Formats: sequence, structure tokens, C-alpha cells
Amino acid sequence: MTPYDDSNIFAKILRGEIPNTTVYEDDHTLAFEDIAPQAPVHVLVIPKGKYVSMIDFAEAATEAEMAALNRAVAHVIKIKGLSESGHRLLVNGGSDGGQEVPHLHIHVCGGKPLGPMFTL
Ligand code: 5GP
Repeated sequence: MTPYDDSNIFAKILRGEIPNTTVYEDDHTLAFEDIAPQAPVHVLVIPKGKYVSMIDFAEAATEAEMAALNRAVAHVIKIKGLSESGHRLLVNGGSDGGQEVPHLHIHVCGGKPLGPMFTL
């Protein structure tokens, strides 16, 4: 499992050291507005536990944490009014995946047609 770096920006958000605009929160999960939105709606959904990647999460998260993360994504989709219009969920992992913040996060994007998934 990848070592977790407590100094990453989302760890600071979870500790309340950096402000965020919260969209949804429960015991296991926090969802907040991305600071540099790439779409009219761009929310990040993160587990409160110390997981770097989806692999870490799958190996070590409790059933409650896993259920909470999935349900939080659905809550955010509804809160942001993306149920009917559509949305894109994205998880970047590692260097090839372009992951900048080493704390697992799910991007929830929408609010306009998002076009093709990749521009390679
Ligand atoms: P990644 O590239 O790791 O998948 O995505 C990291 C995301 O975190 C980026 O979309 C970036 O805009 C966002 N981000 C980075 N720093 C902050 C911050 O301090 N606050 C918030 N709300 N988002 C951040």
C-alpha cells in the first residue's frame, strides 16, 4: 500500500486547516467544490480515511466507508442537479493517471456537454 502523506492538501482540508466549500458531508465522506473547476459543476468527493488510491481504498476501507463514498457521489449528483442532464465521474491514479493530490478523490463534473473523455 502506498504510504499516506499527512501533509497533502486534502488532509489539511479534512483537519480544517484549509477552508473548503462543502457540498455534502457524513461520518466517512466529504464533498467540496474544486478550487479550479473544469466544468460548471466540479465537485471532489473524498473519504475521510487516509487512502491514497482506489487500490488502497479497496484493500483497507471498511464496508461502511465504501458504501458511504458511493452514496456520497450519488448525493452530490442529486444536490447539483445532474441526475437528468448527466455527469462524469473521474478518478485519477498515480503519475500516468495525472493524480496531483495523493488522497483518493472522485471528480464529479457536469453542467454542460463534456465532450469526448480524452483529448490525446
Ligand atoms: P487530481 O489531479 O489529483 O485528480 O485532482 C486534484 C484536484 O484538486 C484538482 O482538480 C485541483 O483543482 C483540486 N485542488 C487542488 N488544491 C485544492 C484546494 O486547496 N482546494 C480545493 N477545493 N481543490 C483543490
